Amino acid sequence: MNLHDNITMIKGVGPKKAEALSRLGISTVEDLILFTPRQYEDRREITEIDKLKEGETAVFAGTVDIIAPGNFRGRRGQVLKLLVSDDTGSVEVVFFNATYLKKAFAMGSEYIFYGKLSMNRGRKQVIHPDFSKRTDFVQGIIPIYPLTKGITQKEIRRLQTEAAGSYEDMEEFLREKTLRNHNLCDISYAFRNIHFPEDRQKLREARYRLVFDEFLTLETGLLSARKRTGGRKGIAFASSDVEREYIESLPYALTCAQARCVAEIKRDLESDIAMNRLVQGDVGSGKTAVAEISMYKAVKNGYQAVMMAPTEILARQHYEGLSKSFARHGVSVGFLSGSMKASEKKQTLAALEAGDIDILIGTHAVIQSDVVFSRLGLVITDEQHRFGVNQRMLLKDKGNNLNVLVMTATPIPRTLAVVLYGDLDVSLIDELPPGRQEIITRCALTDETAKGKQLRSRCYEFVNKQIQAGRQAYVVTPLIEESDAIDAKSVNQVFEELSAMFPRTALLHGGMKQAEKDAIMEQFSDGLIDVLVSTVVIEVGINVPNAAVMVIENAERFGLAQLHQLRGRVGRGPHQSYCFLLIGHDSELARKRGSIMEQSSDGFFIAEEDLKLRGPGEIFGTRQHGLPDLKIADMARHMDVLAKARDEALAILEEDPELALPENSALRRRVTGLFGEDMTLNL
Ligand code: ADP
Ligand code: MG
Repeated sequence: MNLHDNITMIKGVGPKKAEALSRLGISTVEDLILFTPRQYEDRREITEIDKLKEGETAVFAGTVDIIAPGNFRGRRGQVLKLLVSDDTGSVEVVFFNATYLKKAFAMGSEYIFYGKLSMNRGRKQVIHPDFSKRTDFVQGIIPIYPLTKGITQKEIRRLQTEAAGSYEDMEEFLREKTLRNHNLCDISYAFRNIHFPEDRQKLREARYRLVFDEFLTLETGLLSARKRTGGRKGIAFASSDVEREYIESLPYALTCAQARCVAEIKRDLESDIAMNRLVQGDVGSGKTAVAEISMYKAVKNGYQAVMMAPTEILARQHYEGLSKSFARHGVSVGFLSGSMKASEKKQTLAALEAGDIDILIGTHAVIQSDVVFSRLGLVITDEQHRFGVNQRMLLKDKGNNLNVLVMTATPIPRTLAVVLYGDLDVSLIDELPPGRQEIITRCALTDETAKGKQLRSRCYEFVNKQIQAGRQAYVVTPLIEESDAIDAKSVNQVFEELSAMFPRTALLHGGMKQAEKDAIMEQFSDGLIDVLVSTVVIEVGINVPNAAVMVIENAERFGLAQLHQLRGRVGRGPHQSYCFLLIGHDSELARKRGSIMEQSSDGFFIAEEDLKLRGPGEIFGTRQHGLPDLKIADMARHMDVLAKARDEALAILEEDPELALPENSALRRRVTGLFGEDMTLNL
């Protein structure tokens, strides 16, 4: 078999299977080999039935004695019960809705089972175990692959067996020296043992190698992209307190944390080393003010500044707020977004190039190649975790050795920040402006039961009271796919329901035209709408101080960090604010999240808890940082490997900055493969 052979070359893979496999990203034999297990099950030891422990998953073997199909507590589904015995004892094995399995078992024959023991009225039971004939049983460390509809674990394992002959053909893309220095196993050994581990030690070696590979590719890409942005010498602004004028014109005094952050930025801007700073601050900590002050300083030094926001709504809101406050200082602010009329856009671009616009605010439209500045000196990215590396890099490339400020509400551990952003400095705004009220948060199980429905309507009665008192409310629903519409309320459904209750209800979702969205946001902001039903498009940054209630429907569908962001949309004015988390489908995870939200309003604490609940993958995963997808490596768990891979990437780029040597050509292909075409790497 050839690595580039289509997967249909494998016996038994027809068009239907091929389709299912393609959903897993598998279309060739090589893809199959690169498709790595999610976890492993240790099925090396066979436990005597007598020694099975309640709640523990184990392998046991035994003879099937009694096969009894029957009904199950009046449910139409049928059960199949087996009595399985070995020399030490016996256990009941139960399959629901699976009488077809009856044919799989022969009385008096021996089978192997893998499952979890439970107790039912004093009887030992194992429900729905994996099983096979004693003779077919694969004993060992068994890989568990991510699945999709139409593909079973057994099938994937069989396909992997077929592909195993091709490990030797996998290209070794690491140079000798790297393998030696980092004590890495070779690539075919790695794949053999990731799919068919002989023992834990070999599995560890294999995994280490593959994690290292991914990080090395990632870091090589990141580092060479960074190098392209030139040396560190940057523009030095005059050392003066010119920004004080702006600070004094603000309607409030800066918090200590804001003032400290401004001082750190001032130092950066006045030095001749380009600023490269991350401002981390919880929602509502006042990052925008810090950005404004920095931009003011740039403008007063004769430079332009640009601020990029992840959504059009947020960009517009920044534009509206900032153009007012800057107008007082004779600073002109322009706006740019993808959805603008061509004529307007042309005008803005001309004014920008002529230097008539001092500050440009916009969406990622500001990184397009037709955007030319006359004298750009400072670039700011708001909610930077929403952008990809590519987008941030492109913004940086709008000038030479620009001063860069990125702002985020997502806490990133220092160590990780260094790896991801290199020599980035970090400022922390760890304090909220005074007078903020705690947002009262309540979580309720509002499933389809009578009680659930009642709780939900009580929640909306409360919303009604708030509206009578002059407040406004957000109602957020998760984004749902057609396929799982039964599990969650769609935004349209909620909108219709609430429109009947509240006459001034509006709908906002990502699929709407920009002009519509803007109009609705404006009306909401002006108090013409009482209830805004929306998908998560309002998640970042929106600021409407009169909005005092946030209702989140199907809250179980959101992660903690996201719930926290959403909640941050209220409590922005003088009014006591409320957040209701409505759980549509009960689960332990949903309850835990709910109680954490009820207890805490500290973004860093919540992020940590999120980490514990979801595992590091999701938080430090690529989504939060706009990095390419990682398959096997995990930013948080494999931090030590990440650091080593980074060192190696540095060493390789030092010797061969363009990755032009033959020994690095395979690595180079992998890097461009990972970052895709739009990452204009210096390769
Ligand atoms: P975020 O950090 O989430 O971007 P914003 O910059 O949107 O927060 O600020 C949230 C709100 O707090 C805004 O209404 C802003 O005017 C207000 N604010 C910012 N700094 C202060 C301060 N020092 N004192 C009082 N209010 C402030
Ligand atoms: Mg903000």
